[in-house]
Amino acid sequence: MDGKSNDMSADYIAGKLQTEIAGRADISDMFQLILDSIPVRVFWKDLNFVYQGSNRLFANDAGFESSQDLMGLTDFELGWSKEQAEAFVADDAEVMRTGEAKIGIEEPQNHPDGKTHWLETNKIPLKDSQGTVIGVLGTYTDITERIEYQRQIDYLANHDELTGLPNRRKLRSEIFEYEASTTHSHWGGLLFVDLDQFKAVNDTLGHAVGDQILCEVSDRIAGVALNDDSVYRLGGDEFAVLMPQLADTQEEAAIKSSTCAQQIIRCLAEPFEIYPHYIYVGASVGISVLEPGSRYFLNKFREAEIAMYAAKESGQNLFRVYDESMQAEANRKHEFQNKLRQSTSQSSFRLIYQPQFNCHGTLTGCEALLRWSDPDLGEVSPAEFIPLAEQTGMIHKIGDWVIQTAFRQMARWRTSGLISPDFHMAINVSSVQFRDERFVPRLIALAANENINAANIEIEITETHAIDQEAELLSVLEKISDAGFRLVIDDFGTGYSSLAYLARVELNKLKIDKSIVSRINENIRHAGIAQSIIQIADNLDVTVVAEGVETPEERNSLVSLGCEFFQGYLYGRGIPASEFEASHLGAQN
Ligand code: C2E
Ligand code: CA
Ligand code: CA
Repeated sequence: MDGKSNDMSADYIAGKLQTEIAGRADISDMFQLILDSIPVRVFWKDLNFVYQGSNRLFANDAGFESSQDLMGLTDFELGWSKEQAEAFVADDAEVMRTGEAKIGIEEPQNHPDGKTHWLETNKIPLKDSQGTVIGVLGTYTDITERIEYQRQIDYLANHDELTGLPNRRKLRSEIFEYEASTTHSHWGGLLFVDLDQFKAVNDTLGHAVGDQILCEVSDRIAGVALNDDSVYRLGGDEFAVLMPQLADTQEEAAIKSSTCAQQIIRCLAEPFEIYPHYIYVGASVGISVLEPGSRYFLNKFREAEIAMYAAKESGQNLFRVYDESMQAEANRKHEFQNKLRQSTSQSSFRLIYQPQFNCHGTLTGCEALLRWSDPDLGEVSPAEFIPLAEQTGMIHKIGDWVIQTAFRQMARWRTSGLISPDFHMAINVSSVQFRDERFVPRLIALAANENINAANIEIEITETHAIDQEAELLSVLEKISDAGFRLVIDDFGTGYSSLAYLARVELNKLKIDKSIVSRINENIRHAGIAQSIIQIADNLDVTVVAEGVETPEERNSLVSLGCEFFQGYLYGRGIPASEFEASHLGAQN
């Protein structure tokens, strides 16, 4: 190497510049001044990786005051670690060997103060006039702030702010990664967890309490999840657990997933103690078993969700493992829901009326029963569409229509003198409707509009499983009763009705469920249940009506037990108002 072209001093570089900018004697100082005043780090080394110059910012990064301090040193004598020095030198060597520049490389740099900085580096081979490589010129900018900002954005984009758990987006990308990797060979499980009573808690106790519960839920789930599991919050009250490598066989994976689901259900069934409340939330879990090497993982996500809905429908605090029949069921429900949504604005609903009689065979009233017919689906049973309407919130609109229509019918019969002053109309109301605080005022207003005496209206309620909402439910029932309406507990004896509120609200009637009536003569046990219902009613000073009475034998048994009112096919089915008038109200058609 000839001495001149190997001279890598600032003078050399300045000299090169001087040929461009002629006539400046102090060009070397000037050059250093320029280098020291730009925000970019600049350094250059010779073929032996020895520093021949730099600007001040670079010297500072390396732990020195000025660029003079590092002249003649190598990376191994600078402030950074041996590994760091080796990495830098290896990089330089490659640039000098190939003669090719490396541009825009993002790399970490461990500063002497222990902090890691991120750099965007360019390394350019320095060549003499013959084009021979004589060293390397490096420039870089510190992009630590940008990288940290980027990381923060990534974190926020992939995590749930409230619980700190990874979110739905993160789960998706993890699933994509899992699909792309070819190494997984084990069966796995994906759990979809949905809280059962969260919405009610949020609505009644407020979002602050709701947030606290969600945080504790995430802790509890993380506490029971197996090792290496990832728990995700999908949004709202939905969580997921991904267990990609679980077992060698499908059966084993299903069993392990089920065990995990059971533990989650158990730990979420425990009350949440948020002073001064004890809150019961509970959860339903859907499981999708993950096949090794399977593609279309995202379908698995949908499967777990479908299984979760199936679990919810079979009751609460349950889990189900996905199977294909669930998809068909889900499609059907989806179709139903769409139809139902379209229907609320059309006239596909109607009410039919089923008569009720006393033990002397005198008509005492009727129950309004909702019918829905769809051009494609035909007549759909309320047992099927009411739960759907409850889940989607459509029950509020539909229920409102029921009340209004039944009241109007009552008013019409009353003004045409077809019914006696004590004739009552029973109307089914879903407990979901009670969650709307406008319900009671609306009920009162509708009765006033139609000039209906509240004492002629029986509100039939079926208790659902919401123990935690008992206080709220009781207060709504109290308001209904205070407004003069009569309260009837429907489906009494099925186990869904708790005795808890019997003594605490002013009830008027218990309705013995048809499952008990239809077996009353079958065995002593069912007769015993009917008898004890009648006794309870007696003690509470409320009357009893039996529903689903189909045979004279059933009626006779009920009469002998002291039941006062009857409803069922033996007396008449639910029929449209005009038929009801002709058959039961003695109207001339
Ligand atoms: P529910 O309130 O227990 O109504 C009694 C159900 O038993 C009615 O079925 C009725 O048609 C049927 N039934 C009456 N007598 C007999 C009998 O002798 N034998 C047999 N096998 N069945 C009898 P429907 O109309 O299909 O209603 C089913 C359920 O749908 C109702 O049960 C009620 O829970 C709900 N529902 C009906 N209409 C409404 C409504 O307007 N609003 C709400 N929220 N729910 C409603
Ligand atoms: Ca009923
Ligand atoms: Ca019933």
